[in-house]
Order: sequence, then structure tokens, then C-alpha cells
Amino acid sequence: MSSFIKHLYIHVPFCKTICSYCDFTHVLYKEDLVDKWLTRLKKDLLEINNKTFETIYIGGGTPSCLNLRQLKELLSLIKPFSKDVLEYTIEINPESIDKDKIKLLKEYGINRTSIGLQSSNDRLLKIMNRHHNFEDVKRVVEMLKKEGLNNISIDIIYSLPTQTMEDLKKTLEDVLSLDIPHISLYSLTIEKGTIFDKLGYKPLDEEMEADMYEYIEKTLVEHDYIHYEIANFAKEGYESKHNLGYWNYDDYLGLCPGAVGKYNHKRYTNNRNLIDYIEDKDITEIEELTNEEEAFENIMMSLRTIYGLDLKMFKERYQIDFLDKYKNIIDKHSEFIIKDDHLICLKREILNTILLDFME
Ligand code: SF4
Repeated sequence: MSSFIKHLYIHVPFCKTICSYCDFTHVLYKEDLVDKWLTRLKKDLLEINNKTFETIYIGGGTPSCLNLRQLKELLSLIKPFSKDVLEYTIEINPESIDKDKIKLLKEYGINRTSIGLQSSNDRLLKIMNRHHNFEDVKRVVEMLKKEGLNNISIDIIYSLPTQTMEDLKKTLEDVLSLDIPHISLYSLTIEKGTIFDKLGYKPLDEEMEADMYEYIEKTLVEHDYIHYEIANFAKEGYESKHNLGYWNYDDYLGLCPGAVGKYNHKRYTNNRNLIDYIEDKDITEIEELTNEEEAFENIMMSLRTIYGLDLKMFKERYQIDFLDKYKNIIDKHSEFIIKDDHLICLKREILNTILLDFME
């Protein structure tokens, strides 16, 4: 394994209940399964030579649904890798976190939390099969701030079945009242096999989704959030370093079922089956990435952010002079500007259409 991997992702595949939109790798929480999963994770972590990461992200699933003992064990296993970490994030769900768990997070150096709110509307939360309300989130944010864990992100989903513009406005108003530095907003996609899919739910039409996106952007920018990536807004200095790693197309390591990693010009996708993982029978799918594929993916990822594509880095990574090779595309799209050796797309809402030109 390369010793230059800067980012580590650990997937905790357990949840206490299953959300209607969920397509992530998840299984229902069972204490003994978590213990077995921890034993296997310990083995994976022991195999990592690289002991320093710039960012660590514990995602899920619901990492906070582990009981206090298990959460402590997980954090102790990761401890040797977190010494020099700049950003150490854990995802939490409001109904499965309490004061003791928060103290533990602080003790082990977690310095960023990401809370799944999704909506502050009780009716929509019910449709999503979420088991919390806005007051729970408010309480969690207060507890985190009390422990000095101020770097908080909130996840919101919009374009939900039956959601109105008024519902979205109220959720944004509620989230703004929390005074937190980072907000991620995802429009709903209904994946095959999810509860929404089985129940025949549909997201809102494209026009409404676009109006909602426009409203979100306008409102959050007015409140001094930087729209630094298509779906992400942050107060200055609070952009997610871990996710910026993905958008910068850095190499990263992903552990546990369903996690993806990328290093040494290969993408590694772990099998989603927890039992296979626990029994050490899991198979990782390895995809070799050609120089061209990596170059395209790098363009695609980096243009999602306001910082754009670093042209010098691009040349070093792929031995391709970007301005030379893609001159026609840059000339064709007035949405592109070049600033400080970075190519920036000023209209990221049409990025997918622009990217088609790079595929030809
Ligand atoms: S908490 Fe997250 S991973 Fe678990 S079911 Fe809900 S969306 Fe899926």
C-alpha cells in the first residue's frame, strides 16, 4: 500500500432503523455482530503501514448507534492513526448520541461531527422513517458545543415526496438558527430496492427541484455560507478537509463493507456483505484506472468546487498539459475562468453537460 495516502474512511455498517431513502451499506444493529465486526476491523487496521493520515472520517451506517463500550473500542483502534490528523469526523444520528458518547468523542480527538437531520418537518421525517425531531437535533448541537465540538455539519435532503417550498424554507430557517458552520444538502434520488422505491414514491419534478436548489443557494449565501461544492456550504475555514480530498482526487483508504478506496492507480470496492467481512471471506473488487480515466475523473471531481482544477498538479499527475489538450472545450464554454493556475467552472449547475465534452 502506498505510504502517501492522506485520507482514511471507515464505514460503520450498523443502524437501529432503516431510512426509506437509504441505499448505503447497512444492517440492523446487534451487539454481538458489532463486536465481531470490531475484531475484523482491528485486523485491517493492523495491516496499515501508514500511521499518519491528514483526515479520518467515520461514516455509516450510524456510528453513534454503537454502545459506549463499542464506541470506545472503535476509537481506541483508530487512535494510533489519529495523532497528526487535521480533521477527524464522525457521523451521528440525533437519537443515538448522548453526553457520555460526546465526551468520549472529545477524549479521542474527534474534532468534527456530521449530524443527519434531513428535515425539520415531522411529517417528512416520518415518511423517511427517521426517528428524531428538530428538538433532538437542537439538544445534540447544544451538547456538542458545550464540549467545544463546534465544527458541526448538518445533512439535509430536499425534493422529498410531498415536500413543499414552504417545508424547505422552514427547515433552512431552523438549521440557520442552530448557528453551525457547515451544511450539506442533497436532492433525493430514489434508488432501486429502497423503501421509497418499493412503496412507489417519486421525488418532486425537476423544475421544483431546481427552484429548491436556487432557494437554498440564495439563502445560505446571504447568511455568509460559502457554496464551496455543488452540495456543500461552509463558513470560511470550515470546508470539509476530508471531502476536499475526494474532490482533489487524492488517494484514500476505505475500510469495512461497502467502503471504496483509491490508491496506486486502482479503485477498491469492498463487498457489502457483513458476514463475509466478519468471516474474512470478503472479496474486494479492484478496478485498474488508466491515466486517461484518472485524468477525466480528476477533472470531474475538481470542477465541483469553487477552487476548481489545479492545472500544475494536473500536469504533474498525468503528464498532460490541460490548456493545450482541452483548448477547444475551454474556448467553447464561457463558464470557465482561469485564476491562479486553477480552472474554475462558474456554472456548476450545468457541470454534467459540460463534462460530456471531456468524454469525447
Ligand atoms: S441512518 Fe444512514 S445508513 Fe442508516 S438507514 Fe438511515 S440513511 Fe441508511
